[in-house]
Amino acid sequence: MRATGEAGRRPVLNRRLEGLGTTIFAEMSALALATGAINLGQGFPDTDGPEAVREAAVRALRDGRGNQYPPGPGVPELRHAITAHQQRFYGLDFDPDTEVLVTAGATEAIAAAMLALLEPGDEVIAFEPFYDSYAACVAMAGGVRVPLTLHAPDFRPDLDALRAAVTPRTRLLLLNSPHNPTGMVLTAAELAAIAELAVERDLLVVTDEVYEHLVFDGAAHTPLISLPGMRDRTVSISSAGKTFSFTGWKVGWVTGSPELVAAVRTTKQFLTYVASGPFQYAVAEALALPDSYYAHFATDLREKRDLLAAGLRAAGFQVYEPQGTYFITTDIAALAPGKDALTFCRTLPERAGVVAVPNSVFYDHPTAGRTQVRFAFCKKPDVLQEAANRLRRSTK
Ligand SMILES: *Cc1c(COP(=O)(O)O)cnc(C)c1O
Repeated sequence: MRATGEAGRRPVLNRRLEGLGTTIFAEMSALALATGAINLGQGFPDTDGPEAVREAAVRALRDGRGNQYPPGPGVPELRHAITAHQQRFYGLDFDPDTEVLVTAGATEAIAAAMLALLEPGDEVIAFEPFYDSYAACVAMAGGVRVPLTLHAPDFRPDLDALRAAVTPRTRLLLLNSPHNPTGMVLTAAELAAIAELAVERDLLVVTDEVYEHLVFDGAAHTPLISLPGMRDRTVSISSAGKTFSFTGWKVGWVTGSPELVAAVRTTKQFLTYVASGPFQYAVAEALALPDSYYAHFATDLREKRDLLAAGLRAAGFQVYEPQGTYFITTDIAALAPGKDALTFCRTLPERAGVVAVPNSVFYDHPTAGRTQVRFAFCKKPDVLQEAANRLRRSTK
């Protein structure tokens, strides 16, 4: 919504941010509060991460580590833990001093990357449905977003359409895999084709990999930066929030070449400068958890996915099974003929006592997401079961 000033006065919100007034999450979470509905809208776990990691934060705080401004690039313990993680899971070598930057969550990393890398008018190609901060960050940097529409039922990117979307003004690809909200995970063949295109057209790539460990059914996440020709043109972004179930801590990071990391650090230092001091030490310990932690967490989430997917199907939703992330995208066309997702979601809390989010607001495309509704399954099994029961009752 456009903020307007007094009569005759220029609108206070700058034109670049027109239409980006309030996020759908604020609207739907307010509805959840007002109606007492179960909130499967916003993607945050209702159980905190490992007790040992929480205790590590308490210890850091008590010991006076990180209570004052930490170093701009991040505390050395965390930068080393990030490089060890990249080595352990992907065989990637990064220099903790020049090729790693700790940020205030992936959100700040995305914003800092857009502000650092874009000139006004530069085009940015991103999958739609978009993660909601992408449009805003591209706009704040004066860039132009160019959507590559992911279509149901499998949401695979159309690589010919991607190739055709590249123009002389294209500066970068902003890629998210595992993809929120569809749960699509890029395959080895898709990654290879994207890397080849980026090299051929000399594009930068920013990869949002916050769900890197949340993949199911044998799907695997591979960082695009590990592919031939990508090491010096990719800004690889991840975060502790989703992997360790501490979304409030806001510890994220960037890995990449010294030149790209220095560019992102340049803008980041004037956004927050630094953040999350004591939590940085705790996340360093979290990253060093054994492989079994990561495997268990993915298995636990897959079980929750299956529980909610079965409940949604029983209630009449068409379910698009996600290969990763916290989310299930559904289609309501058969369940609520003629209804669009936004209308459906605005009345769902009242009708069913459940909050969901319309994917339609994450598309520029006028119809592709019209009847898509997203549910988060990073909740306790009994909460998911109760939500499923309520939905089934409301649609009977
Ligand atoms: C949650 C999320 C983020 C934000 O991560 P933070 O570390 O909380 O800032 C970024 N991208 C995607 C796709 C997300 O789902």
